[in-house]
Amino acid sequence: MNEGAPSEKSLTEVFERLIASHGPISVSHFMAESNARYYGGRDPLGAQGDFITAPEISQMFGELIGLWLADMWVKAGRDDMVHYVELGPGRGTLAKDVLATTRRYGLEPKVHFVETSLILRDIQLATVPRAQFHDDLSSVPPYGPVLIVGNEFLDALPVRQLVSTGQGWRERMVGWQDGKFAFVAGDKPMDSAVPEYMRGAEPGTIIETCPGAAASVYEIAGRLVKQGGAALLIDYGHDAPRTGSTLQALKEHRMVDPLAMPGEADLTAHVDFAALAPIAQSRGARWLGTVTQGHWLRHLGIEVRAERLAGVAPEHREAIFAAMERLIGEGQMGALFKVMGLAGPDWHGGEGF
Ligand code: SAH
Repeated sequence: MNEGAPSEKSLTEVFERLIASHGPISVSHFMAESNARYYGGRDPLGAQGDFITAPEISQMFGELIGLWLADMWVKAGRDDMVHYVELGPGRGTLAKDVLATTRRYGLEPKVHFVETSLILRDIQLATVPRAQFHDDLSSVPPYGPVLIVGNEFLDALPVRQLVSTGQGWRERMVGWQDGKFAFVAGDKPMDSAVPEYMRGAEPGTIIETCPGAAASVYEIAGRLVKQGGAALLIDYGHDAPRTGSTLQALKEHRMVDPLAMPGEADLTAHVDFAALAPIAQSRGARWLGTVTQGHWLRHLGIEVRAERLAGVAPEHREAIFAAMERLIGEGQMGALFKVMGLAGPDWHGGEGF
């Protein structure tokens, strides 16, 4: 065995050495490397994993997204050369439920998965054998309308944090202190990266941005303008500007210290939807709205759908309604999760916004 090969070292060890030789690393670097290692090495979803997502809770989630996409596609004239593009498809469960539904409306798109994890690609291919894989959106064909969906994708992209100190704004970094990772302020002045009105903020104030989410929305909007189509981005987050760190880590369904076990826990940050809508609009795409998941699923008819499923399988009635409650309940995913809709300039508005 080749001792010292990077893959054999824990990420804690890698970061510790890097920090010892080069000084603190940025929060963004820490998060990017941690999640690449985390998603690259396991299937994190479900009861055996670290967290559970809406499509894994109930098929109704994917069915209603499929219904929305089919409605948009029908209103736009049923172009046959249409692509379903999913960002970070997890186990492929959402795509399977979406595609089973769109089929009933005659919508049978080409299927493209943007996924970096090789382990998850294998699982996705077993669920949706016709999927083609991409490392990012750039290799998705540049012709034909695109129906783009990302559920809990943007929250996994690395955030950059800036922190206000007595001596001005600095990048928030991760250092090594007393045998563990700790947040520290960088030494380069960063005031020019902060909006004018924030310059005098109280020491300790944190601003968080997600360059990867901004770039993704910029690219999605560009595709919608050029090729036509619609997009749904669903994630937990806020639709008004705010300050503070939202970096968090989940391990075995529990919140853990985000610095404690890099590469072994899922690191996420809330999505700043307020920042994303203007980016899409600046490229000429239609922003259909950003609403809570509870509102959106209710509008799309989740209650009727649950009743229908329970009618077919009365023995599962309780489980079906419990799953619905998890998806739309105010104290559950219904209020914290948001749905943002985008569309090409010539496409109609969508239901639920
Ligand atoms: N959408 C799925 C899974 C969410 S978990 C669901 O709702 O169940 C996040 C997903 O994004 C995983 O599939 C992960 O491998 C993928 N992912 C994370 N960072 C990525 C990146 N930079 N590029 C592409 N995929 C990424």
